[in-house]
Amino acid sequence: MGIKEKLDIINANISAAAEKSGRKRQDILLLAVSKTVEVPRIKEAVDLGLVDLGENKPQEINRKYPEIENVRWHQIGHLQTNKVKYIIDKVCMIHSLDSLHLAEEINKRAEKAGVVMDVLIEVNISGDQAKHGIPPDEAEGLALAVSKLPNVRVKGLMTVAPYSEDPEDNRAYFRQMKKLFVDIAGKNYDNIDMKHLSMGMTNDYIVAIEEGADIVRIGTGIFGERNYNI
Ligand SMILES: *Cc1c(COP(=O)(O)O)cnc(C)c1O
Repeated sequence: MGIKEKLDIINANISAAAEKSGRKRQDILLLAVSKTVEVPRIKEAVDLGLVDLGENKPQEINRKYPEIENVRWHQIGHLQTNKVKYIIDKVCMIHSLDSLHLAEEINKRAEKAGVVMDVLIEVNISGDQAKHGIPPDEAEGLALAVSKLPNVRVKGLMTVAPYSEDPEDNRAYFRQMKKLFVDIAGKNYDNIDMKHLSMGMTNDYIVAIEEGADIVRIGTGIFGERNYNI
């Protein structure tokens, strides 16, 4: 199956899941995760209408950035403080904010670059030791602390659920994320705009949308298995 056929299926699935949760296809953002994928194949996807691209590594964004036009880059992987400067003027959103220390560095670099950076607070909803993100009960506190920084704007929450063959295994986690999202949104804090809930990957995006995700991050489902050796 080519990228076009895969995208057709994914788009149909997104539409159906969106409808199940009282929304429309255009309410859901499909973020194509292009890590390890080379530029010509990414361009193929872009030519098919994909605009938002997600990467884990700042150096990979830097390498691909000049080669692909008319797209929006998202930093979705864990971000080290000393790498913020490489992407601050290139990405539209950082999905992986997991500490105040990192937020302060983003704020500093954003101010220098003359931008306000949108961020999502990454929550480790499963408590899995191997996962990044902060515990759910610390999300509101971090969001509040970050909201005081003038060049950073909290736009919602993100999570990476555990890998599972059966996506139903993650439904409860997605539901907990949605509840946390609604709880924080309900507080109406200044400079916290709870707009986005970024959750769901190739294996579980349908369930994630049914439970309230409005951004899904899909790599393998679009580009096929990754080859980390290239
Ligand atoms: C790699 C990655 C994805 C995409 O994973 P697939 O299973 O290939 O869809 C999504 N989010 C993050 C944070 C990732 O690192």
